[in-house]
Amino acid sequence: MPWRRSRDPYRIWVSEILLQQTQVETVKPYFTRFLRAFPTLSALAKAPLADVLKAWEGCGYYARARHLHEAARRVLTSGGKIPQTADELRKLPGIGRYTAAAIASMAFGEAAAAVDGNVERVIVRLLGERRERTSAAAQRRLRKTADEMMAEAVGAGIAAGDFNQAMMELGGLVCGPRRADCARCPLAGECRAQATLADVTVLPRKIPARAIPHYEIGAAVLRRGGKILITQRPLDGMLGGLWEFPGGKQQAGETLEDCVAREIREELGIEIRVRDEIASVRHAYSHFRITLHAFDCRMTRGRIRKLGVADFRWVRPEELAHFAFPKADRVILEKLKE
Ligand code: SF4
Repeated sequence: MPWRRSRDPYRIWVSEILLQQTQVETVKPYFTRFLRAFPTLSALAKAPLADVLKAWEGCGYYARARHLHEAARRVLTSGGKIPQTADELRKLPGIGRYTAAAIASMAFGEAAAAVDGNVERVIVRLLGERRERTSAAAQRRLRKTADEMMAEAVGAGIAAGDFNQAMMELGGLVCGPRRADCARCPLAGECRAQATLADVTVLPRKIPARAIPHYEIGAAVLRRGGKILITQRPLDGMLGGLWEFPGGKQQAGETLEDCVAREIREELGIEIRVRDEIASVRHAYSHFRITLHAFDCRMTRGRIRKLGVADFRWVRPEELAHFAFPKADRVILEKLKE
């Protein structure tokens, strides 16, 4: 992993934010691309948000990019030095308990235990913890154990960052969610799950999955004089700051065509005629799924106002590449090209 070769706090910070919701293999090219675009904290802090979102495009969970940008700006305005302790790091947007401990230990050697999903699984099995791992009592016990293990490791002369990474690798490579290679595990001699269970993978106890809702989304592809209308999502919500075809969620009892016309009226204050559906795409987010239906539309009345959007632009097809879009809209764009 390219970021593991470094003790540069900025590189470690960027990598940990990327890794928050994304698999290692997916992160690698984004990490390289992001560092090429913003090689230093100061370059990131001084860049417009639109450029940061563009570099993040396709990686998902865009709040991470907005928070990282905002945090870089805060660090720069307060002297440009990245905080060195987990407690101070946690005051920055987008940095939670795990990320703060990871950065503080790897970049600055602080003895802060970084407990991600992999580490949590190892400790749950080590303790034979049978309560739901998200319960407050289980969480207290897991944290206490993680802190004790870290203190013991540092006392034995192991660097805090190395210990955290070793625990993460142990969870990732040896003590996996569906398979544990206990014969190869350095903790086997003191592991309660291994000593008492026929199958250690019954721990952590599974939390029943919730049904994932599905939404139908209607969007307008409005054209005028060779240009297409795109709108920018409000900065503070989901996919904030990204550009898209305007539209929204279909309501009960409404046709998709009516949905598009209503959304455009609410977001932009204009009337449109909704013609044929020209493309559709299914997409899954973490807590819901959508089918996005794009309709060919024409403006019939009114003047565009920013009622429910951060901004809007009429752009030529060749200019669309300069804007950051959510994945589903990007697929629609590709289909339109075809
Ligand atoms: S002994 Fe097995 S269950 Fe226990 S921590 Fe090691 S790999 Fe996981």
